[in-house]
Formats: sequence, C-alpha cells, structure tokens
Amino acid sequence: MTSVFPRCSVSSSSSGSFSFPNRPPLRYAVLGAGFAGISVAWHLLKDCPKDLRLSVDVYDEIGIGGGASGVSGGLLHPYSPKGKLLWHGAECWRECLELLNVAETAASSSSSSYSSPAENGDCKESFGNFMVRRRGILRPATNAKTLGLMSDNARNCLASCVVETIDKDGAQNLVPNLCLPLNCSFYLPGAMNVNPQRYLQALFLACQNSARASLGSKTITLVKKSIDDLLELEGEYDAVVICLGSKVDFLPGLTGKLPLRTCRGVITHLQLHESARGSYPEGGPSILSDAWLAVQGPRDLHMGSTWEWQSRNYSSDVSAEEASRALAELLPKASAVYPDIEKWEFAGARAGLRAMPPVTSHGSLPLLGCINQLIGVGAGGSCKFWLFGGLGSRGLLYHGWLGKLMAKAVLCCKEELIPSELTSWKKKSVNK
Ligand SMILES: Cc1cc2nc3c(=O)[nH]c(=O)nc-3n(C[C@H](O)[C@H](O)[C@H](O)COP(=O)(O)OP(=O)(O)OC[C@H]3O[C@@H](n4cnc5c(N)ncnc54)[C@H](O)[C@@H]3O)c2cc1C
Repeated sequence: MTSVFPRCSVSSSSSGSFSFPNRPPLRYAVLGAGFAGISVAWHLLKDCPKDLRLSVDVYDEIGIGGGASGVSGGLLHPYSPKGKLLWHGAECWRECLELLNVAETAASSSSSSYSSPAENGDCKESFGNFMVRRRGILRPATNAKTLGLMSDNARNCLASCVVETIDKDGAQNLVPNLCLPLNCSFYLPGAMNVNPQRYLQALFLACQNSARASLGSKTITLVKKSIDDLLELEGEYDAVVICLGSKVDFLPGLTGKLPLRTCRGVITHLQLHESARGSYPEGGPSILSDAWLAVQGPRDLHMGSTWEWQSRNYSSDVSAEEASRALAELLPKASAVYPDIEKWEFAGARAGLRAMPPVTSHGSLPLLGCINQLIGVGAGGSCKFWLFGGLGSRGLLYHGWLGKLMAKAVLCCKEELIPSELTSWKKKSVNK
C-alpha cells in the first residue's frame, strides 16, 4: 500500500550523511522509454545518494524509442528558427552533450553486449550506422525580412555552439551546388545529428552499467507493457514519472486535462543510386530550411518533416498515399536550397506524433511537475505522480537538462526544484 511517510531519498540527516540500512529499496516507475523517460531513468540512478537502495522500472508498450523519439530527425542545436538562443539553451546544450558522451562511452566500451536496435527487434528500420554525426548544420537564409534579425542573433551565439555567417562561396565549399537566394547562410559547425534509436539503446545500456556497478544497491528493468491505469501503480511505487509523449492524453485520468496539441510528422528516407553522380560530401553538414535534410551518408539522407496538427495517428507506419503527399510537400522546399535532391529516390518513410505545448513568453516549454492534484490522488501526501511531457519538436535538446531536474525533484520529493516556468501550466489546468 501507499507509504505513510514520504520516502524521499535525498533528505540527509543533520550530519549530512546518507545511510538507509533497514529500508527496502525505493521503487520508481518511469512510464515511457523515449528521450524523456530514459533521461529520467539515467539521472535517477546517477544522482541519487551512493548508498541508497533504489530500483527503477521503465515501462514501454513498444520498447526503447517506440514513440516520437525513435523516429525523430535527430537534429540537435540550441537555437530557434530565427537563430535566437532558446530558453536555458546553454544548460540544455551542455547536458545533452553530456548524455551523448555517456551513451557513446557505453556503446564503445561494451560492443559485445551492445546490440543495435535492428538486431534486438526494438525498431522496424534503422537508418545510418552512426550514433552521433558531428558535421554541423547549415541554415541558408531564405527570408529577406528576417535576415537582419538572424545576423544579430548569430552575433549573440553560445561560445560552445557558434553560428558563423557565410556567403555563397563558403556555403558551396561545404555543399556543392547549394542555392542561396540571399547570398547568405548561417553555419553551426558544432551542431550535429543523432541516430535516435542507437542513442537511446546505448543510453539504456549506460543505465544498466551504472546499476551493475552499484553492486546490487541499484537496479533498472525494462518492462514491455502498456499502462492503462495510473492508479494500479500507486501502491507499488514511491513515485511514478509519466513520460508518455503524445500518448499521455490517451491515459484515463489525464485525457483532456493537459494543455497539449498533437502534431503528426512524416520523415522520408531518400537514397542516391550508385550510378548517379554528385553524392553528398562526406564532411558535409545537414541542412535546415523550410524542409530539413538530415544527412546519414553520401547517398543516404532523411528529409523532413510535415506538420499535421490535431492528428491522433501515432503509428510510425506511413501508407503509400501519406508518403507521396509528404514527398510532394517536402521536395520543392528542399530543392529550393539543394536542387540536387531531385536526383535522389524515395526509399521509405516513418512518422511520429509530437506533443506540442502552449507558446509562452519564453517560447514553447515542456510541461513538468507533480500531478497528484490533477488526477485526484494523495491529497496532502507526498508527491507520487510526476509529469515530464510536451517536449514538442525539441525533445532531443530538452531531455538532458530537464530529465536531470525532474530526477532531482523526484528524489527529493520537491517540486520547487523545477523552474516555475515549467510548472506554471498547472495553475491554468487545475483552475479549468
Ligand atoms: C517527425 C518528427 C521529427 C522530429 N525531429 C526532431 C529533431 O530533429 N530534433 C528534436 O530535438 N526533436 C525532434 N522531434 C521531436 C521529438 O521526437 C520529441 O520531442 C520527443 O521524441 C518526445 O520524447 P518523449 O520521450 O516525450 O516521447 P516519446 O518518444 O513519444 O516516448 C513515449 C514512449 O511512451 C510509450 N508509451 C506511450 N503510451 C504508453 C502506454 N500507455 N504504456 C506504455 N508505454 C507507452 C511509447 O511507446 C514511447 O516509447 C521530432 C518529432 C517528430 C514527430
């Protein structure tokens, strides 16, 4: 049954030591194995006191990367479309790079036990053989009205992810035949693209390694199961962290209560036939424009993405009709900056459903916080149910820092550790 006193792990004794000899392990459930869920699981294991016994169960009905994360474009940089640094962009960028390093280290130090997503059957299709492609991103300027603003923003960029303004020659040195209507392009040499399935698998492996290194005091388990009723978990766990992406709205008890809109996006996979000339340069950056090109290899790229608002279709499968509509929409946009794309051939398509949060004065911020009150449980008790959702179209950038904040708040049972900008949505939802 529900514990009477809040079993909060990081409340130390007055001597400052953390010792919990007779307690059963703290049990946490993380619902969802996408960017949000795996980041929270990692930080719960890593940021809890060393001698605390803790077990984390990660539930996912499909498996690791089974939702939007697994199909996402994997483009990573800390700027808005107009080149402005996003809210807490520096922290988000730093923590995301940290998690990428953790995942890369886990994968490389354990190549025998690390199996690629395609090998263990967790995803249907795996594009590309890299986990992180560090070749930068190029954003050709296409709108004369915003050019001045973008140039100003570029001057205020992060030192750890610089934005260089380059002319047509500079851009064409990076990608031959590029078309720059305004003779200006913004180049982010430190930006990257991530193979989301490989990354998530490796980060989960890092979680397992961390638990193994604790010599039994910590455990992590992936449970392949659909959660239909949150209250079933109430008595079993000290805290439940809900990271279900766009499907959070399908949970009884939460349906219609969160200020989220869904938006389906299709990504197409294009290949350049071996016989065709003009392969993409090996070191060439990915391209961001009205459509984006996430380069996977010299003859292999992803082109995205469509925006179908209010869709309830969360399947990653794309019908032939939906794929051809996506191609008709994306190809002209991509070819306006990279005309060579016309020579590439369609090789497949996948889709995901984004959970889009409201726009605030700080931009579109994810929704975090304790939701006991929202679902009507544990009045006056400790915080048991937590939400980490609404990652919108920037889950990769946000998941590291916000996953860390979320885990800290859960471990300390202290919602105040989360910046108020991320919890303020609750005032409106509760007063609805
Ligand atoms: C087409 C497209 C392109 C994108 N490109 C980028 C990009 O380039 N860069 C970027 O930063 N972001 C991108 N995004 C956004 C990014 O994918 C999301 O912000 C992010 O994936 C959200 O992560 P999440 O963990 O919250 O949700 P999800 O990844 O959707 O994870 C939720 C998990 O919960 C599981 N689940 C759901 N319901 C249940 C249930 N009842 N029981 C058990 N398990 C359940 C699902 O199987 C899933 O694995 C893109 C999104 C789309 C759709």
